[in-house]
Amino acid sequence: MGRALIIGAGGVANVVVHKCCQNSEVFEEICIASRTKSKCDAMKAKLDGGKTKITTAQVDADNVPELVALIKDYEPDIVINVALPYQDLHIMDACLETKTNYMDTANYEPEDTAKFEYKWQWAYRERFEKAGITALLGCGFDPGVTGVFSAYAQKHYFDEISEIDILDCNAGDHGYPFATNFNPEINIREVSAKGSYWENGEWVETEPMEIKKVYNFPEIGPKDMYLLHHEELESLGLNIKGIKRIRFFMTFGESYLRHLEVLKNVGMTSIEPINFEGKEIVPLQFLKAVLPDPASLGPRTVGKTNIGCIFKGVKDGEEKTYYIYNVCDHQECYKEVGSQAISYTTGVPAMIGAMMVMTGRWKRPGVYNVEEFDPDPFMEALNKWGLPWKENFNPDLVE
Ligand code: NDP
Repeated sequence: MGRALIIGAGGVANVVVHKCCQNSEVFEEICIASRTKSKCDAMKAKLDGGKTKITTAQVDADNVPELVALIKDYEPDIVINVALPYQDLHIMDACLETKTNYMDTANYEPEDTAKFEYKWQWAYRERFEKAGITALLGCGFDPGVTGVFSAYAQKHYFDEISEIDILDCNAGDHGYPFATNFNPEINIREVSAKGSYWENGEWVETEPMEIKKVYNFPEIGPKDMYLLHHEELESLGLNIKGIKRIRFFMTFGESYLRHLEVLKNVGMTSIEPINFEGKEIVPLQFLKAVLPDPASLGPRTVGKTNIGCIFKGVKDGEEKTYYIYNVCDHQECYKEVGSQAISYTTGVPAMIGAMMVMTGRWKRPGVYNVEEFDPDPFMEALNKWGLPWKENFNPDLVE
């Protein structure tokens, strides 16, 4: 079928690369390009010899001319951006210049503010339309599969959805007192920001970790979870018609929260640069450098994740609830691709999203969030490629 350029060589990229190689009918060729080429070469070495032809390249994804040169040389059908959110706009610029389809798993963020808004990327809509190319935004698990689940619920089970609760439970244990499951800088920015939820067309803001609930997760059991802001609330608030409230909850263990509080109190989670021995450093970036590399957690993480959405709404005049979720086992993911479940649950949907664009099923000029496309082929692919989902038509609700 075609050729994909994968940018980034971290935990998520490792899963994307494995999954593309498993799906060689669609991904006949891939190029892994990142800042540190040795990481791309190490991935290639693990998977070389299969049906998918793998090449590697060095690229600074903040340098648009460098990206343009690479894209012109490789001529991919799509660029899969699994670097960091800071690179999104630069990669989109390069895609525009070369008329190449684009996909990512996290919305653009400027380095100096942690806002999690789509406005910068949505501003590219007209230019992508005119260029005749597709940009698919936020195609990991959350955002990503949560949007596909929402579109699926809307299409098959509701006339109108009034409430969505997105529940993200990671019951994995890596044995460290404190570590993050994906890029520490992005993770800590997300959880130390103020919380918010969408209600009656407006944002309601909360203090970080102010709202705590307990939920009895299928296949896991009861866990504490906290309301966070999360980027898909913004797009779902616009794309799910009639929606009144959307909230996002994530589970955290006591040890994680205690460490985070201390780190915050002493200033280590700040993104304001400080001067240290004559050199400017960002405390959070320094913290990242001393924390365990998320990629190293794979072999030691045991337990499961459960991520899903609970919907409330009306069908044929009757009130209805519906819960759809995926359970993923850290050790099984590690055995299959050498990554823990957080990277796995992000990398699999990224491969599927790229496949949707490459096969034409999700191809439309412009900039789109996942819930704007037909969810059915994506849902089928989730079952096929390692993230099977389960449904409950009478779930416990978050009170
Ligand atoms: P990692 O930190 O493990 O990997 C990021 C990779 O990007 C690294 O290989 C890094 O290079 C590379 N990179 C960073 N800056 C540049 C640059 N300027 N040019 C080229 N390459 C660069 O992150 P993850 O794999 O954990 O996460 C990847 C993405 O997935 C992030 O955007 C994250 O927010 C998103 N994500 C989305 C989720 C979802 O469900 N939607 C869940 C989890 C993550 P180097 O190796 O040199 O440092």
